[in-house]
Amino acid sequence: MSVRGVLLDVDDTLVDTRGAFRHAWSQLTERFLPHVGDVEEVVRAWRADDGGFYSAYTQGRLDYLEQRRHRVEALHARFGAPPLGEAGFTEWNALFEDGFRAGWRAFDDALEAVAQLRAARVSVGVVTNAATPYQRLKLDAVGLADLPVLVGVDLFGFGKPDPRVFAEGARRLGLEPGEAAYVGDELHADALGASRAGLTGVWLDRPGWRGRPVRPEEVDGAREEGVRRIESLRELSGALGLG
Ligand SMILES: [Mg+2]
Repeated sequence: MSVRGVLLDVDDTLVDTRGAFRHAWSQLTERFLPHVGDVEEVVRAWRADDGGFYSAYTQGRLDYLEQRRHRVEALHARFGAPPLGEAGFTEWNALFEDGFRAGWRAFDDALEAVAQLRAARVSVGVVTNAATPYQRLKLDAVGLADLPVLVGVDLFGFGKPDPRVFAEGARRLGLEPGEAAYVGDELHADALGASRAGLTGVWLDRPGWRGRPVRPEEVDGAREEGVRRIESLRELSGALGLG
């Protein structure tokens, strides 16, 4: 069956979220972790989220601010900084939000890919593991105001890779799962999750961009489950056979 709709992830797929984290952490490191010389090391640890706090949020086990607080306290502990505590977290969080939002940018290939899909008469929309209003703000800020946020983690109280999330995205495009593709930068939460929900799963594996290491056998296994791998959104239409 040919693909009639494409659902997209936001963070590190359409929006350079790593760059926005770097923007936020360059100020936060100076203020809270001045003994750490390398901001990149902090950004890496933040993205890796070894405690799995963001994932707990997407499973409905922590609320948004709780996960963020656990995540930053774990990071402070890892770098030998004192805990922020209640008041410290409030200050930290305000600085984080300011720096993060000021760093929001779309990837060069994002606007182009969305335009190309529309030109091929493919319907498009976003399915995301962050809250709908927050992602709306983010997409508006980066020039993707006309891209609908179809499913956010707030809709069901849980997120990807639950198959119901992908099925709902397809349904909101008026399609069956088998008529839709999903593209995202996370192999398991995005591409494999979508594939197991009956969509065409596309893994956007931007060179040097993985937030967590992925083993070659995981990549092979995903391919066997039908996941298609691309390195840029410029390859998306071609990978879906849309010309
Ligand atoms: Mg992502």
